[in-house]
Amino acid sequence: MRPEDRICQICFSEPETEEHFIFTCPAYFNLRILWLQKVISTCNNFDELSISEKFSVIMTDKRLIYGTSDYIRGAYLFRTNKLYVHSDS
Ligand SMILES: [Zn+2]
Repeated sequence: MRPEDRICQICFSEPETEEHFIFTCPAYFNLRILWLQKVISTCNNFDELSISEKFSVIMTDKRLIYGTSDYIRGAYLFRTNKLYVHSDS
């Protein structure tokens, strides 16, 4: 499937890429905000990094890796809940 065909089924605003899921999907804003504050306080120029550099920081910095995995797990559970639990009525 082409990336442009994978529209996010949670917010319907963009293709659901890894970047969209982790950094931009508005549905996960509340889950993301505390984690992202920690990321930015650990890596002061985070906003200026390229997307591949951002992924590198959040996946490899020892101070961030547990927070990153907590955030991804929380967002993934939220997504699964939205997509599958409330869909059968
Ligand atoms: Zn989305």
